[in-house]
Amino acid sequence: MSNAGLVHDEGRALVIDTMMFPEMAEGIAAELRRRGARADVVLNTHHHVDHVGGNAVFDGARLVAHPKSADAIAHPPPAAVYDSFIPAYAGRFESLDVVPPEPSLDGLDLPRDARLRSYAPAHTVADVAVWLPSSRVLFTGDLAFFGVAPLAFQGLVSSWVAALDDLLALDPAVVVPGHGPVGGTRELALVRDHLAALLAAARDDTPLLPDEVGEWLEADRIPVNLERARQEVRGEIGAADLSAIPANAGTLFH
Ligand SMILES: [Zn+2]
Repeated sequence: MSNAGLVHDEGRALVIDTMMFPEMAEGIAAELRRRGARADVVLNTHHHVDHVGGNAVFDGARLVAHPKSADAIAHPPPAAVYDSFIPAYAGRFESLDVVPPEPSLDGLDLPRDARLRSYAPAHTVADVAVWLPSSRVLFTGDLAFFGVAPLAFQGLVSSWVAALDDLLALDPAVVVPGHGPVGGTRELALVRDHLAALLAAARDDTPLLPDEVGEWLEADRIPVNLERARQEVRGEIGAADLSAIPANAGTLFH
C-alpha cells in the first residue's frame, strides 16, 4: 500500500496523498482529529489511484495537484484496468468516485516551512515532493520507492533521475517514500542509481547489472522499466508525449 503524510502546525494541516480508498484515508483523518487539527490543504503528489482514492474524506480542505496530474485524475482509465493491475482490490474500483483536485499549486498557505517541488515528467506526467527545510524531512510521493521496485512504465526515466538528483542535493535527514518504509539519502541514492543504470543499459544495449533494488519486492517491474528506458532511447516517448506504453507492460496486469 502507498504512504500518506501529514504536516501540522497550530491546528491546521497539510495532508500529502489520500491512499486508495476512503476507509484508508479515514486513518489520516482520525489522526488529525486526535491532534486537534483540520486538513487545510490536501496535496495529490501525482495521479495514481493509490494516492488519490481517499480524496473524498477531506471535505472542506483545499484539494490540489499539479495541473497535469489533475488532468490525468479527471480522465481515469476504466475500472477494469485497475482490477487487473491491483487484483487484491478487484471489484472496488467501479464504485470509487475520486474527488478531482484543483489543477493548481499556486497561492497555497502551507503549515510550518513546507514547500513544494514539482517535476514534470518524472515517475508520471507530473510528481510533486514536499520539503521541510528546517527539519530536513522530505515526502517524495512516488519519486521514491523503498523496499519495493519503482514503477516507471508511465514516466520518463531520464527526467526521474534528474528529479532524484535535485532531491538528493537537498540532503534530507528523513525521506518518506511513496511506498515502503521511511529511509534516507542512502535509499534515495539506490533508487536514483538504479534508474540511471536502466537508462545506461538501454543506451548501450548492455544487460542490467544486479543491484540492491533488484532484490526488492515487485522485481517483475524491472524488465518493464528497462523497456520504458529503451522507449525513451528510441525516441518513442518524450516529455511532450508519454502515451506509448512499453510492449511488455502487460506482464504487470493479471
Ligand atoms: Zn505512483
